[in-house]
Amino acid sequence: MNIDSITNGIVIDHITAGSGMVLYELLGLATLECPVAIIKNVGSKKLGKKDIIKIDGETEIDFDLIGYVDPKATVNVIKNGELVSKRSIDMPEKLVNVIKCKNPRCISSTEQELTQVFKLTDKENKVYRCLYCESKA
Ligand code: ZN
Repeated sequence: MNIDSITNGIVIDHITAGSGMVLYELLGLATLECPVAIIKNVGSKKLGKKDIIKIDGETEIDFDLIGYVDPKATVNVIKNGELVSKRSIDMPEKLVNVIKCKNPRCISSTEQELTQVFKLTDKENKVYRCLYCESKA
């Protein structure tokens, strides 16, 4: 795989160094059949060090999840060798079925069919709370 010549795919750039693996896990990239590369600790003028994830294939990714893990990341979508969109991601106000509540007594833990919903309650400190029991994410 030539990581610099993606024809159709997604490049997640400006990931905080160390968060690349976290995103890889949470986005479920291990299950993709196309080539996926994580490049760690790349020198960056803006961040000092950053991680980059390159996905060489067409796939849907969860932007909310990226915004939750790393709101400073940017996502580049490449189609036919051209950059068709570059977007920075903000922290989503609401996370639906992205993370699970850790409180074992929470109704969302006991009622499996309930949607897991977390709300951003403190943007500055990146605090999400469960909609049902208000536990921190
Ligand atoms: Zn809860």
